[in-house]
Amino acid sequence: MRYLILSDIHGNLEALTSVLADAKGRYDSILNCGDLVGYGPDPNAVVEWCRANTPVLIRGNHDKACVGLQDLEWFNPVARKSAVWTSEVLTEQNREFLRDLPKGPRAVDDFQLVHGSPQDEDEYLVSREEAQNAAQFVDRAISFFGHTHVQGGFILHRNGVRYVTTQRLALDRDVAYLLNPGSVGQPRDEDPRAGYLIYSPEERFVEFFRVEYDVMRTQQKILQAGLPELLAYRLQFGK
Ligand code: ZN
Repeated sequence: MRYLILSDIHGNLEALTSVLADAKGRYDSILNCGDLVGYGPDPNAVVEWCRANTPVLIRGNHDKACVGLQDLEWFNPVARKSAVWTSEVLTEQNREFLRDLPKGPRAVDDFQLVHGSPQDEDEYLVSREEAQNAAQFVDRAISFFGHTHVQGGFILHRNGVRYVTTQRLALDRDVAYLLNPGSVGQPRDEDPRAGYLIYSPEERFVEFFRVEYDVMRTQQKILQAGLPELLAYRLQFGK
């Protein structure tokens, strides 16, 4: 079994389409760590695709915000504006689907999906200290997370935490992993290409990928929708 693991699609249909074309034929099932919507111009198309194609997914903070499950006061003005826009354009069916998305952690076989961190779906795992702190809440050898929009993650050893620095990771049974596939629809690690990963439990590897997509088309749609210009601009730079 090979899993295609996605996170933070954020209503970006062009990025999602490129990821699926790039990964085609190399996976058996698709999992999703949340934030299907928010920021991007195609929330309905992305949610409909996820409803049809993603057997296991969890909610992200933007999914909550766009259906009224989270107070928008915690969002910066740009994120708030996009959440309001998204909530206005979502169809009733898609809104219901997002409202019913389960909260992470969600266990699948010997691994789990979380949006932010294992202890808090809204927490960002950025530093090794944060990863170290999360270690006590990890109840699977591998946790896939999103939220930071930064591809990579952490290896939790008994005597310390290391950043993941290779594209293809041979999995060791003596350590635990916190791994982020990167954001499909709004990367923030200064690489504007869409991120994803493929995980094979039997072959014991995880491989990270980046793929180019039609950024200009997404930018045009963002501007046409009247969403904040910054949301279009940042896609070009991956930050
Ligand atoms: Zn996100």
